[in-house]
Amino acid sequence: MTNTFSERLAEVRNRIKAACEKSGRDPKSVRILAASKAQPPEKIREAAECGLTLFGENRVQEARQKIPLSPSGLEWHMIGHLQTNKAREATRLFQMTHSVDSPKLLEAIDAAGESAGRVARVCLEINVSGESSKFGLPPEAAPEIFKLANGLKHLEITGLMTIPPVAEDPDAVRHFFARLRALREQWRDLSGFALNELSMGMSHDFEVAIEEGATIVRLGTVLFGRRETQERPKAEG
Ligand SMILES: *Cc1c(COP(=O)(O)O)cnc(C)c1O
Repeated sequence: MTNTFSERLAEVRNRIKAACEKSGRDPKSVRILAASKAQPPEKIREAAECGLTLFGENRVQEARQKIPLSPSGLEWHMIGHLQTNKAREATRLFQMTHSVDSPKLLEAIDAAGESAGRVARVCLEINVSGESSKFGLPPEAAPEIFKLANGLKHLEITGLMTIPPVAEDPDAVRHFFARLRALREQWRDLSGFALNELSMGMSHDFEVAIEEGATIVRLGTVLFGRRETQERPKAEG
């Protein structure tokens, strides 16, 4: 790992560019979301000074404390599991939630959007691997969710998100990313939403995710270095 944040970011940008070249994509079509959980506001400031504008947090409580101490004008997304009773505060703190995985949560975010007087943007988290991961909707559950969402006035489903199992070789999870993209194509018409965003790819597999169509890669370790507490991304919002 190189030393400074700006060196690490330059390296990541090069890798993104290479993955885009390999797959015939425009690097501008891929956004870096800095997964800043466990990073103090000074680190967020440093990242912002290097030109990053999109940050993701996993817990409402942590975001509530950090966002006011961070530079203004940044875009914040909720990427961790969100509890229904925190939907209102999350909608106030975040411009988008990536991890919606239940009808109850969808309705709670719509209600929060209504009281905030805006349309709340979300991605549906899809469990494409079928592993007994705690979070994410099974693909079969999505059509019902789209039907429900079409009746909600303060909510827009902007895309899909997934977290495949961790694999030593990122190529081993390529088919999960491809599956998410295929589901997006399949659901574009029936859902009533454009589903432009594919939030997929983390530090160990972002290039493969980009080759398979990711529009947002959520990067923590590769930008900030190892977190003090190495946990699987499943923290409660
Ligand atoms: C922490 C986290 C990431 C980033 O993980 P890294 O492996 O450090 O890049 C991405 N997505 C979610 C949901 C996370 O919780």
